[in-house]
Amino acid sequence: MRENLAEIKNLHVEYKTDKGIFGGVQTIYAVNGVDLEIKKGEILAIAGESGCGKSTLAKAIIKLEASKSGEIIFEGQDMLKMDSTELKNFRKKVQMIFQNPYSSLDPKMKIFDTLKEPLKINTNLSDSEIERIVTETACKVGLDKECLSLYPHEFSGGQRQRIAIARALVLNPEFVLADEPVSALDVSIQAQIINLLKELKENYNLTFMLITHDLSVIKYLADRAAIMYLGEIVELGTVDEIFNNPKHPYTKALLSAIPQFSPDAAGSNEKTLLKGELPSPSNPPQGCKFHTRCPYVMMKCKEKAPNNTNFENGHTVKCFLYE
Ligand code: SF4
Repeated sequence: MRENLAEIKNLHVEYKTDKGIFGGVQTIYAVNGVDLEIKKGEILAIAGESGCGKSTLAKAIIKLEASKSGEIIFEGQDMLKMDSTELKNFRKKVQMIFQNPYSSLDPKMKIFDTLKEPLKINTNLSDSEIERIVTETACKVGLDKECLSLYPHEFSGGQRQRIAIARALVLNPEFVLADEPVSALDVSIQAQIINLLKELKENYNLTFMLITHDLSVIKYLADRAAIMYLGEIVELGTVDEIFNNPKHPYTKALLSAIPQFSPDAAGSNEKTLLKGELPSPSNPPQGCKFHTRCPYVMMKCKEKAPNNTNFENGHTVKCFLYE
């Protein structure tokens, strides 16, 4: 049984946005009472449609987004209660890889300087030590030493994402949040970056939270997956359970939408089709938030929210069909 590296308890993230031409302000309920344990050395995937709150969850964990309430426990300490010194230390151990390698690198900085910057800011290492770490980190992600004297525009999208990954790793973090790390890349390059993440996890025992809408990436890369809908985790389990024994109607619908994961492909006749659009997170439905799109909706689903039901191996499902 793996030890927990981090625990998220009853996390809520809300923010205000303009209502546009109608004027006024609306509240977006982006993350609603998320509970999660992240185990040392695992890749935990967070999946769901655009707007489900998965990226906001990752940003809240690294404090790029303010949390309204809850706890983010890392090495026994609640990140939301850390003072500035503790937070600086936390940020060395928890890093993020962003979706777009084109905008996440400073075009005016050579790659060596881009990789050196976090070490200069966060450590008192000598220049020769910094040079050694930068060169070693570039090597870890498959970049030659010669690349370090070039600028971002001299690289392809895949190489830029390698640089962005190297920047996230240069402080030797324990936990890396990767937000759609391959979705901005050409399909031909995606496999290289996916394989790189797998190698990094296996060779350096890194812990990843992988935010993605791409179920095939999850199937290949992740150990466990959490399915998110309108700010809530509706199903959590090992990748094997999620793909071979999905229980929540939303998880089934996501899998049914992809031919290779559809129950038809596995010889089953059960197929759950996803109706309609994701409701606005500013005005989520009462009761079970999935009830407006669920083919199995019952009267009670519209009136109150289901609790988590626990199955074997940490598989949990939030649905009245299992209560
Ligand atoms: Fe569907 Fe009801 Fe289950 Fe929600 S609780 S997923 S509406 S059956």
